[in-house]
This record gives sequence, C-alpha cells and structure tokens, in this order.
Amino acid sequence: MTELENLPNVGQKTAKKLRDAGFGDIMRIATATPKELAVKAEIGEGIAEKIIAAARKIEKIDFETALDVVERRKNVGRITTGSKALDDLIGGGIETQSITEVFGEFGSGKSQLAHELAVTVQLPIEKGGLEAEAVFIDTENTFRPERIEQIAKHFKLDTKKVLKNIYVARAFNSSHQILMAEKVNDLIQEGKNIRLVIVDSLTSHFRAEYVGREALATRQQKLNQHLHTLQNLATTYNIAVFVTNQVQARPDAFFGSPTKAIGGHVLGHAATYRIWLKKGAAGKRIARLVDSPYLPEGECVFKITEEGIVD
Ligand code: ADP
Repeated sequence: MTELENLPNVGQKTAKKLRDAGFGDIMRIATATPKELAVKAEIGEGIAEKIIAAARKIEKIDFETALDVVERRKNVGRITTGSKALDDLIGGGIETQSITEVFGEFGSGKSQLAHELAVTVQLPIEKGGLEAEAVFIDTENTFRPERIEQIAKHFKLDTKKVLKNIYVARAFNSSHQILMAEKVNDLIQEGKNIRLVIVDSLTSHFRAEYVGREALATRQQKLNQHLHTLQNLATTYNIAVFVTNQVQARPDAFFGSPTKAIGGHVLGHAATYRIWLKKGAAGKRIARLVDSPYLPEGECVFKITEEGIVD
C-alpha cells in the first residue's frame, strides 16, 4: 500500500493533517474534490488539487474500459432482504458499490427492512450475507436492539455477537448526520469490516431544517454533499448503502407515477436502486422496483413478521 508521505507535496505535517481529517488512504483522497480536501484538511486548494491528481494516478482513476467495469463488478456483494421474492426483484439482494433507496409512507416497512439488513449482512456468504459489520445512522430514534435480537434469533445467530457488530449513531441534526457518515471512514481505518451503511431516515432532518422555497437550494446542496460522501463509501470500500426516505401519501397517484420523494431530483440521480414500499392487505407489503440501471421494473409481495422480513 502506498503511504501518504509518498505523494508529492505531502510531508509529515500535511500527512498528519490529512489523516486527522479522515483521509488516511490514497483511495479516499483520490475520490475527494479539491474543495472538500482543502477545507477539511486545512490545506491550500492548489495543493489539494495536486495531491488529488497524484492519488488518482496511483489509484488509476481515469476512464476505464468496459472490461475493467466487468472486473470491478465481479466484486459486487449482495445482502439478502430476508424475502426471496424481494431479493429476486432487485437481482439477488441489495448491492455493494451502490446506494439503494427505499421510499414509502410511514409504517410501510422501511425501518424494518433496515433492521433486517443489519442482521443479514452478518450471515455467511452462502446464506446471503457478507460476514461483515453494519453502521446504522439513526435520525429519528427508530433503531430498536430488541428487534435486532428477534431477527437474529430467527437466523439462529448469537444475538450478543450480532448486536456488537452494529455500530449505531444517533444523528441529532443534518450536520451531525453528515459528520457521522464521514466518520465511517474512521471505523474502516480502525480495521472494522463494514460492508453496510444504513441511514434511516436520510431526509427527515433536511426536511425539518430547511423549510420553504428559499431554503430549497441549500437543502439540496447539503443533501447532495451527504450523498457524495455515501457514494464514496460505497465505491471506495465496496459497501452497500441503504437509505430510507419517507414520502407523503398521494391518493391521486397510482403505481407508475409515484415520486413525491422528499429529496427530489438530487436523490433520484444519486440512488442506483429505488424501491417503493406500499402497505397491502392483511399485513402484506408491496415493493416496486422503480429505478434500476439494468433490471426491469417490477413488483413483489413480502411480509413483516416477528422474525423479520419473510415471503
Ligand atoms: P417505516 O416505513 O415508517 O420505517 P416501519 O419499518 O417502522 O415503517 O414499519 C412498521 C410496521 O412494521 C408496523 O406497522 C408493523 O406492521 C410492522 N412491525 C414492526 N415490528 C413488528 C413485529 N415485531 N412483528 C410484526 N410486525 C412488525
């Protein structure tokens, strides 16, 4: 692995600044923007630009051929949702190197799905997991360890171990939420095997803090910055990012013209997979894949039970 000190313009002092600001590895630097690096590491923007250019050269961040893309995608991991039907709909579980967004009304099962994934990511690969740990950024106080225990029991896992492998951060406002997402880098640098980052809910703080038309541009800009951080985590460390987004009921809209999603267009472009959840009859839930780079749109039905998500 290349050390930071081997980059041009980086002496011991700058290397320390970079490390303290969470830019401990070359890939992390390569995927930063000059402005981001300059502000966070407190270095000049010109220097930041040079450091990033050098890091990109080392990490070979440039055009890649389609064959390179195929190679990179071979490393994509998948995490089971607990429901075979839902896994099939999204191509075998939620993907690493991508952001998956679930949106739907209150009570549609977004948080339940988040809890389920925090457990299933820990399963062995042949059971649909990645034998890895999860980060749960909780913005609305929805995280329930008891729920994790119930789901873990269903998979016959050691509940204490499962709880220990989930790093929970309660985010009190949008700035705090942005910061906690950035701090995931630190966990990884400490050697934690994080392969899933959950943000439940992605949009609630942004919605509450930036009210009205005048605030819309700022809100989108902040949300965009946050999504950039999440996307970086996904691609840099081969992580699955799973975010929830509450949307208002639209009695006039049927499937097909869904989104009055809070994040609007910014989120629409950043999320690689978008799943719309709806309540069905008799405790059932309907999931619709709304946007995917290569899978057809479609629907499936699953259930939320004491044991978690099932067919
Ligand atoms: P949201 O989309 O608002 O995040 P949730 O994921 O919290 O919604 O879903 C809440 C719903 O999940 C409840 O209305 C209930 O139907 C179901 N649910 C929650 N816990 C359990 C449980 N232990 N057993 C069965 N169903 C549950």
